[in-house]
Amino acid sequence: VPVNTQEQAMKNSELFAAPKHLLGGLDKQRQYVMKIEMARKACPNCGELHNVPEAAGVAFDDYDFSAADSDRKGPCRKCKRTLIFTVPLMGDWFWRLDPNEARTPSDA
Ligand SMILES: [Zn+2]
Repeated sequence: VPVNTQEQAMKNSELFAAPKHLLGGLDKQRQYVMKIEMARKACPNCGELHNVPEAAGVAFDDYDFSAADSDRKGPCRKCKRTLIFTVPLMGDWFWRLDPNEARTPSDA
């Protein structure tokens, strides 16, 4: 369970829009993570762009950016393949397809 250090946490949209110099260390870090994860990356299967909350199917303000990386996944809006949040050793994150879904749905 993520520990909330503030009595009343800002909404994601408020934190996202807040000027960086007004934020404390922890909020600055949260905003940084948020900005990275709000960048839209392409589905490797069909090219449809999704940011992390969009793939999870959660509204921006309802998304828990402190969730584990393994929870950062969800179906592509267009082709329905599962997108998995992946961070390489170097460089920016990307979506990877779930290898367990290699078979077509008609095989089920
Ligand atoms: Zn797709």
